[in-house]
Amino acid sequence: MLRIESLQKKFGAVQAVTDVSMHVDEGEFVTLLGPSGSGKTTVLRMVAGLEQPTSGTILIDGVNVTQLPAQKRNIGMVFQSYALFPNLSVFENIAFPLRIRKWKADAIKARVEELLELVRLTHRRNYAPDQLSGGERQRVALARALSFYPPLLLLDEPLSALDAKVRQSLRIFLKEIQRTTGVTTLMVTHDQEEALELSDRIVVMSQGRVEQAGAPIDVYYRPQGEFTATFIGAINTLKVSVLAVGERAAHGQHVLLSWNGHVFSWLLSDQEIVQQETLTLRVRPESLTVDETFEEGAARAEVLSVSFMGAVTRMSVRVGQDVVLIDALSSRAPSVVTGQGVGVRFVDQRIEKQVGERLLA
Ligand code: ATP
Repeated sequence: MLRIESLQKKFGAVQAVTDVSMHVDEGEFVTLLGPSGSGKTTVLRMVAGLEQPTSGTILIDGVNVTQLPAQKRNIGMVFQSYALFPNLSVFENIAFPLRIRKWKADAIKARVEELLELVRLTHRRNYAPDQLSGGERQRVALARALSFYPPLLLLDEPLSALDAKVRQSLRIFLKEIQRTTGVTTLMVTHDQEEALELSDRIVVMSQGRVEQAGAPIDVYYRPQGEFTATFIGAINTLKVSVLAVGERAAHGQHVLLSWNGHVFSWLLSDQEIVQQETLTLRVRPESLTVDETFEEGAARAEVLSVSFMGAVTRMSVRVGQDVVLIDALSSRAPSVVTGQGVGVRFVDQRIEKQVGERLLA
């Protein structure tokens, strides 16, 4: 539905977008995720037609729209700031794009009623925007953006102006609406959790380029390179020794690894070929566990800190030369204190297989 090819944008001497190629399939929810200044908003604005690319091509539904003005692209858009018309009621705000498109009065009424129901604001139809909460305003903005059945919905940090509680509930709501309407969606965010929760695919951007594009689970558990690995969530980089190279399996190769006295088996993916005696393994904090007492076979460790974070308890431990972060579900977290000697192990390989985490740098 959307295809971007070799997109570039310069603002004078500033290279905002260096080289971006990506696509969004019909019905897909794709997120541009990156730190401030990585160029994601500029990409979105070029897709919307609010900014002219320096070079490159934008195709919507197979049509080259690169030179087309914004109003002819027929795209729905929701911004961080609600951008509602303050002097129009909720109903009229949603009706606005349809009046411009010269829909008939009864068709407008039917469509707006349907959208009010979709965003659960029927009871607010006659309110003015300033009588609504932030979350309600964003739901009006969403209804307005969807009113004319756009082939593409663009969302520019739509939830970031809201407080944490409203943001969380609106996230679920947004995903639900995207699913029910099936609208092809491209969203910009710098919030990793939001991207992981909402997206079918995430396009990670850094310094005007695409670092990696993939399903949330791939981007999280198989980051291609340092930037993606460290930008999304916490990660440990561990040096391990290869003790033995085992059998080939359907999805890779079994190896026996050793890390500070802890010997464990691991399945390397096909791209990850063992040619050295040492490997760098990148593992998420939830892929390691802490035993309350040290036993032979585990890696000997000392607890540096324990932080209760709600659902998860995060422990920082020293293992040999490494400082390692380990997460446990709080309901199952070991009871350990700072300074305690503990054992650390990799989690059960069956879990590893499920999540597909066999990372190698
Ligand atoms: P943020 O989350 O902070 O909006 P971003 O990833 O969306 O960041 P952009 O807003 O696309 O990044 O900006 C990318 C780079 O281009 C930045 O260095 C920014 O200062 C620059 N830039 C963006 N718009 C303009 C402009 N109109 N004129 C000059 N420079 C610009």
